[in-house]
Amino acid sequence: MISELRNSTAHVFVDAIDAPAIDEIDAHHLLRVLRVKPSDAVTVSDGKGKWYSCVLKADASIDATSEVFTTAAPSWPLTVAFSLVKGDRPEWTVQKLTEIGIDEIVVLAPTIRSVVRWDDGRSNKNIDRLRRVAREAAMQSRRTWLPNVHGATEMSTIDNLFIADPTGACLDASHRAIAIGPEGGFAPQETENCDGLVSLGDTVLRAETAAVSAAVLMSDYRRKRN
Ligand code: SAH
Repeated sequence: MISELRNSTAHVFVDAIDAPAIDEIDAHHLLRVLRVKPSDAVTVSDGKGKWYSCVLKADASIDATSEVFTTAAPSWPLTVAFSLVKGDRPEWTVQKLTEIGIDEIVVLAPTIRSVVRWDDGRSNKNIDRLRRVAREAAMQSRRTWLPNVHGATEMSTIDNLFIADPTGACLDASHRAIAIGPEGGFAPQETENCDGLVSLGDTVLRAETAAVSAAVLMSDYRRKRN
């Protein structure tokens, strides 16, 4: 890991690296909650691989203290798709998947055994909330590439998707997109048409543990191939 990123007091995303402007919510968080001072090293990124070191002034303007660096995109993107479960576990899942380094975080459209469904009216609001969670987690974990968070997506539209199932094959570097079922699991007709089943271990995991395990195992294969 790059030490300037690891050691910065805060890491923040801006829309344009050439004309960086800290938005109001981030400014409040950095200046009032984290109490970042002009003497603290901050890193700023466009979420598309570009970043630099800077200092943050009291008016939330920033002065660059380094050149702009570019982090290469990951050697291949990793996808975790998961079914909605109860309570705040989707937020927790998105936070952890972001920390671990997943690139495409997908909320699956209701599956046959899904219990939790977002009604249409609230769906956009819910997905916006998950995107905010991902952005905050990416700041925390010093990512320079922001993950994409996709709302209600049909499994059939995701390329090379493997379904997580205890009876599946052991995970290897060929598994780059994995779907996690709801608490009741996937129905047989859903597992029949995928690219294959992949196992995450010999115990039955809760959905959110399965999502995190898939992320850890896939990202470990990717790191070792680099
Ligand atoms: N009773 C259900 C349990 C579902 S757990 C069943 O037997 O299928 C929720 C989801 O987590 C599952 O649909 C599956 O995608 C994933 N999962 C749980 N444990 C797993 C394991 N050991 N390997 C792979 N996937 C697992």
